[in-house]
Amino acid sequence: MKVLFAASEAIPYAKTGGLADVAGTLVTELRKAKTPALLFLPLYKEIEEKFRPEDMGVKVNVNLNGESLSGSLHSHGPAVFIACDRFFGRPELYGTAEGDFPDNSKRFAFFSRAVLEAARALDFRPDIVHVHDWQVALVPLYLKTLYKRDLFYSGTKSVLTIHNMGYQGIFPKEELPYTGLPKDLFNPEGIEYFGRVNFLKGGLISADVITTVSPTYAREIMTPEQGFGLDGVLRKRADSVKGILNGIDYAAWDPASDGSIPARYSRADISGKARCKAALADRFGFKDRKAPVVAFIGRLSSQKGVDLFLPVAGEVAGWGANIAVLGKGDEYFQREMTKLSGGLKGRVHAEVSFDEPLARLIYAGADMFLMPSRYEPCGLGQLISMRYGTPAVARQTGGLADTIEDFSPFKCRGTGFLFKGQFPDDLRQCLRAALCTWLDRKRWDVLVKSAMKRDFSWKRPVREYLKLYSELAGRTDEHKT
Ligand code: ADP
Repeated sequence: MKVLFAASEAIPYAKTGGLADVAGTLVTELRKAKTPALLFLPLYKEIEEKFRPEDMGVKVNVNLNGESLSGSLHSHGPAVFIACDRFFGRPELYGTAEGDFPDNSKRFAFFSRAVLEAARALDFRPDIVHVHDWQVALVPLYLKTLYKRDLFYSGTKSVLTIHNMGYQGIFPKEELPYTGLPKDLFNPEGIEYFGRVNFLKGGLISADVITTVSPTYAREIMTPEQGFGLDGVLRKRADSVKGILNGIDYAAWDPASDGSIPARYSRADISGKARCKAALADRFGFKDRKAPVVAFIGRLSSQKGVDLFLPVAGEVAGWGANIAVLGKGDEYFQREMTKLSGGLKGRVHAEVSFDEPLARLIYAGADMFLMPSRYEPCGLGQLISMRYGTPAVARQTGGLADTIEDFSPFKCRGTGFLFKGQFPDDLRQCLRAALCTWLDRKRWDVLVKSAMKRDFSWKRPVREYLKLYSELAGRTDEHKT
C-alpha cells in the first residue's frame, strides 16, 4: 500500500509547530514499518540552504488562473520538495511579524496541484493521499473534481488530518480562480464560507476520512464553541471523523540519550535531572537555585493560554517559584513576557526565540510544565515534558485531557495537574496545588515516575493509521462531494 503525504512543514526540514513533528515522524515510522511512503513539501529557502536536496531533473506544470507555472522536484530522504522560487524562495513559511503573506492562497493552491502532478511524474500511484491542515486541504477536493476522471488516481482514497481548527485558510472570493476549482463549488455546501473561500472546508467536504489528533478534540470540534464556524460541516460528516492521538519520537526525545542536556537520566536513575536544573538556573540567572521551576515552551498566543498565565506570574513567583519561558508569537505577549523577564527578584526569565536545544534544557531542568491552553488539538509539549520527568499543569481540553491523568494526592496516583475553568484564577489554584505537592518529595517522586512511565511513542498511532489506511484502501465506496 503506497501512501502519499503532503504537508506545509515537517521535521527535520521546516517547523513552526507540532504539525511538523507529526508529518515528519509519521512518514519515517511508516517507512520503518515497510510501507512505501513519500512526503511532499514546498522547497522553502531555509530547506534549500540547509539540506541542499538533490535536483531530480523532473518538472511539473500548474495552470494558475491562465498562467502556466513550473515547479521542479528535488529529493532528500523520504521527502520530495517542490521548488518554485516565486512562492517559496523567501524567508519564513507563512508570513512575517507584519502578517501572513498576501499570496498564501496562490502559494498553497499551486503546491496542492503540483503535488498531484509530481506523484504522477514520478509514477508514484498512491492508494492513500494523506494531507495535513488547510495548506493542502484542497488536495482531496482536487481528487474529487479536477482529477475525478484521471485513471492514475482512480484507486486513491484521501485522509485529511486537522491539526488546528483555528487556522482554515480563508481568502477573498476573488482568489477562487487561482484554485482552478469549478465556479459552481462556490456555494455554502461547497467551499464558500460567508462570501469567502475556505480551503479547510474544501478538504472537510471532500476527504474520504477526516482525522484529528486526539479523540477529545474530535468531539470538541463538532461543537459551536470549538468548531470555529465549521462544526456544522463536521457534524454532517461525523461518521467519517476520527481522533488518533499523536505520539512523539521516543528516540529523538529521550533524556537517557539527549546530547543537548548537560546530564543524562532515566526513570531508573533520575539523579541527572538535578544537574539539568542547575544548568538551567545558570543559563536563566535564577538566584534561588533550589526553588521549583515552572516552565512554559510554546507559541505566545491566547490559544496557549498565555493571557491566563501573565496575570498570575507575579503571584506564583511571590510564592517562591522560578518561572522559565521560551516562546515566540504575538507581539503583545512577546513584549509582556520580556517586561516580566529579569524582574520579580530574578525569579522570571523569558527568552523570545525558537530554540530547540534550549527547549530541551528547559524540558529537562524544569520541575513542572505549564499548558493552560484554551484549546489544544493534541499538544506535544506535555508529552515531551512527561518523558523528561516534568509533569504538566494543564487545562482539561483536547489532547491534554486525553494524555494527562489528574494527580490525586490521596491515592497518590496521576501524571499531572488539570483544571477546567477559563480564568487566571483557575490556573492559579491548580498551580498552587501542584507547588504544594512538589513540597512533598515522596509524592512528587511517585508523580514524576508515573509521568515518565506513560508510553506516548509512535507505536500505537502508527498502528492506528495503518489500520485506517488498509480499511480505507479496501473500501469500494467513496465519499461523494
Ligand atoms: P503547536 O500548537 O504550536 O503545534 P504543540 O504542543 O503541538 O503546539 O507543539 C509544539 C512543538 O514546538 C513542541 O515540539 C515544542 O517543543 C516546540 N516549540 C514550541 N515553541 C518553541 C520554541 N520557542 N523553541 C523551541 N521549540 C518550541
